[in-house]
Amino acid sequence: VAAITRVRNPILLARAVMERTPHILMVGAGAERLARRAGISMCRPADLITQRARDRWRAALDRRAQEKSSLEDDHGPGGFGTVGAAALDVHGALAAATSTGGVGGKMPGRVGDSAIIGAGTFADSPGAASATGQGEAIMKTTLCREAVLAMRRGDPREVAERVIQELGTITGGQAGVILVDRAGRLGYAHNAEVMDIASFDPTDGFTYRWASPLKPASKSLARNG
Ligand code: ASP
Repeated sequence: VAAITRVRNPILLARAVMERTPHILMVGAGAERLARRAGISMCRPADLITQRARDRWRAALDRRAQEKSSLEDDHGPGGFGTVGAAALDVHGALAAATSTGGVGGKMPGRVGDSAIIGAGTFADSPGAASATGQGEAIMKTTLCREAVLAMRRGDPREVAERVIQELGTITGGQAGVILVDRAGRLGYAHNAEVMDIASFDPTDGFTYRWASPLKPASKSLARNG
């Protein structure tokens, strides 16, 4: 779902789209109507803005006023607030979910990658994937679908590193991805400053994980468009 401002937990609504409609992506008023019909709790738009997001927005406005910087300059590390999950259950079912408020400084009407199946979120028989980072770079490289298809043969750890390296080379952008394959093996990688990562399994509970940022590949093919 995209362009919704009154749904407290958008992933519940995304699930309702998957389970109750023949559609994949719903936006705006129609999506919010479905939320009401599905009994999903609604809120005021202001309830979805955290103090941290408000502070960042003010800081970005100040920066822009002082430096006359462009929108793109606010898309740096720290401007992201995505939460994503990739999961395998005891029956072997794979699923992915990603929720975001988008990037700082975006234009009204901009849709990022998180809701775009194949870009910011994807699951199929080889595995599940969820991404964070610069949505434009993630969409250009359909990052999560690339990663899931690559898990047909590749180890999730290597796949995660490869797709992030490729995204950096092709777009010059920053992103991170978390993966689980159908055997329950995990993969994660990013080329931003930091990415918070945790895993959960019934035996070990939560494990917090660390991945150092990947360095750009030596031969740069960065391009725009
Ligand atoms: N990927 C998100 C977007 O581009 C931002 C994020 O990861 O926080 O909208």
